[in-house]
Amino acid sequence: MPLKRALCFLAVSAAATAASFSGASALNYTRQAVAFGPRPPGSDADRKLQAYIVSQIKLDACEIIEDPFVAKTPKGDIAMKNIIARFPGKSGKAIAVTGHFDTKTFPGRKFVGANDGGSSTGLLLEMAHVLAHQPRLDDVYLVWFDGEEAIREEWEGTDNLYGSRHLADRWRKDGTLAKIKALINVDMIGDKALDIKPEGNSDPRLQQLVWSTAAGLGYQAYFLSQRMSPEEDDHIPFKVLGVPVLDIIDFNYGPDNQYWHSDQDTMDKLSAQSLEVVGTVVLESIHRLEQ
Ligand SMILES: [Zn+2]
Repeated sequence: MPLKRALCFLAVSAAATAASFSGASALNYTRQAVAFGPRPPGSDADRKLQAYIVSQIKLDACEIIEDPFVAKTPKGDIAMKNIIARFPGKSGKAIAVTGHFDTKTFPGRKFVGANDGGSSTGLLLEMAHVLAHQPRLDDVYLVWFDGEEAIREEWEGTDNLYGSRHLADRWRKDGTLAKIKALINVDMIGDKALDIKPEGNSDPRLQQLVWSTAAGLGYQAYFLSQRMSPEEDDHIPFKVLGVPVLDIIDFNYGPDNQYWHSDQDTMDKLSAQSLEVVGTVVLESIHRLEQ
């Protein structure tokens, strides 16, 4: 299916000043996303959230690329859609910041994924708002992935990462991938007790740049040095194609990680401050990568 492109140059004024990342605003966007309820791929709530994301980024100065596709899953074909906001620069190089908006399918349960699916959605929406008011050297792509979660209960084989695998392949074919000097994925970054560890599938140099940026901002208490095991997340399809990637994930959510994929993954577990820490570090890292 062809990409639907919509150019929007609204809400930009030449006098706009550099805005800073608001955790309160990111938390509010997260709350709006979570209010749609469980959002498994192909569901009505998933489609409503797609429309909400597009409606919000239309207010920012970006090119909006809707990227629909049909995923072959163990439960048959499912229509999914990634949403991409492109903030154009002039260097010919690009930086991508990504995260997923779908929630894992748990039939008969009310899993709303405030942290797992919600926090990445809200952080990226606030980031779009901030980027709209900044001059750019590199293109910056913000990507909301559909279909990160496995459709079946277990995470196995190719039953996961549907949106990121689709986009990595599209970007390989259209030449975008060759321009990308870094891809930073965020996942589960709203936990009140924020503790992010270096992830084993991430690029060491990119990780070093982001961690030193965090340290420079005084955020060593949240960006720890003790390593965590490699994770399979939306950064992997790009890593296997040679892109330097980083996964920022706090995979320590509640006592013994018990809020993860639990109906306890609700808004009261999140904080504006955690979103602000991660959003600020990623924004500052974009600036350093552009230099
Ligand atoms: Zn998950």
